[in-house]
Amino acid sequence: MHFIGNLTKKVYRQKNIWHGDTYELLDVAYTKTPKADNFIDKNYTGVWRYKWFLPLVEPNNLITVKEGNTPLLTYKSSLKNVLIKQEQLFISGSYKDRGATVLISMLKQLGIKHAVQDSSGNAGASIAMYCAMAKVNCDIYIPKNTSIAKQAQIKAYGASIITVNGNRDLTAQTAFNSALKSYYASHCYNPLFFEGTKTFLFEIFEQLNFNMPDAIVLPAGNGTLLIGCFIGIKQLINAGITNKVPKLIAIQSANCSPLHNLISNQINNFTATIAEGIAVEKPVRINQMAEAVTFTNGMVITVNEEEIVKSWKNLALAGYYVEPTSAATIAGLDKYIDGFVTTETVVSLFSGNGLKATDKWLKYLKLI
Ligand SMILES: *Cc1c(COP(=O)(O)O)cnc(C)c1O
Repeated sequence: MHFIGNLTKKVYRQKNIWHGDTYELLDVAYTKTPKADNFIDKNYTGVWRYKWFLPLVEPNNLITVKEGNTPLLTYKSSLKNVLIKQEQLFISGSYKDRGATVLISMLKQLGIKHAVQDSSGNAGASIAMYCAMAKVNCDIYIPKNTSIAKQAQIKAYGASIITVNGNRDLTAQTAFNSALKSYYASHCYNPLFFEGTKTFLFEIFEQLNFNMPDAIVLPAGNGTLLIGCFIGIKQLINAGITNKVPKLIAIQSANCSPLHNLISNQINNFTATIAEGIAVEKPVRINQMAEAVTFTNGMVITVNEEEIVKSWKNLALAGYYVEPTSAATIAGLDKYIDGFVTTETVVSLFSGNGLKATDKWLKYLKLI
C-alpha cells in the first residue's frame, strides 16, 4: 500500500500560498517503492493499468473513461523512422486527460466539491470534463485570447469560465487567489496531475517491449509531460524495472523559451506565438523542468513561427490534423533528427487535436 505525503485537503490548502512570487510546491511521496511485479494490473486498461504506481484511489472513487493506451505510430522525419504517440486521441482531445483522471479521482476521494483551475485551454477542458463526471463544481480561469473551440468545450462540460484580462501568469494568480476558498486543481501546482502524466512514459516503455527509448521529444510549456516523464523514469529505476535513462528533449517556441534561456543563460524576451499550449512565460516548476533535461542528458530546442506553421501544414497534408502546439513539437523533432541523431530510437507525440484550433485553421486558410 502506498500513501500520499501531506496531501490532505487541509494541509494542501495551507501550504499552497502565493506571497508575491514565492510559493511552495508539493510533490507526491510514496512510503513504499511499488514492486516491479505489480507494474501492470491487467484488470485495468490505459492509465489505471499502472494503479500500483499511482496514488491509491478506491475503485468507487475512480473517475475514468479508460483513457490512455494511445497507439504508437511510425513517422518519417528526414528519412529516419521515429515513433509518434497519438496523444491527440484522448477523449477531451489532449493528453491532459492523463493528469486529470488521477487528480479528479483523488479529489472525489477527498470529498472536495468545488475546484478551481486556470489554463490556456486544454488542461481546463480536461479538468472540466472529469469534474463533470465526478459532479464537482468547477471554475476555469482563462486568458482573454483562449481559442473559441476550447472555451466552448469547457462550457459544454458545465464549468464556469472566468476570463482574465491579461496573460497566463495573471490568469494563474487570479485563479490561485480564488482557490484559497476552495481547491486549486492546477495542472502546474498540484502534484497529483504529474502522477497521471507520468503514465505517458510507462506506456512508451511497455509498448517498446519493456525497453526505454534513447530519446523522448516533448513540448515544454508548464512541463507537465516533461516532469511527468522524469518522475516516471525515476520511479521505474527505483523499482528496479530499468536502469536506462532516456534523454528528454524539450521543445519551446523561440518566441517564448524560458527553459531554453535558463539553461543557456540567456535573457527572456517574449512575443506572441501560434503555439498557445507552450506559451508559458513563467512556468512555476521551471527548476524541475531544467533538472529533467540536464539529469537525462537532454537538451532544449527552439522553433520559430515559420517552422511551426510549415510543420503544421505538412502534418495536415500527411493526414494528421493537430494543434499548432503539436506541430511545434514535430518541427523540433525534425530539427533534432536532422542535427543530432544517427541510430537512436526516438519517441515523440501529437499532443492535441486539430479540432481544438478551428479558429487558427480558419485564419490560416483565410476563411475568416
Ligand atoms: C498542455 C499542452 C502542451 C504543453 O504541455 P506543458 O505541460 O504545458 O508543458 C502541448 N501541447 C498541447 C496540445 C497541450 O495541451
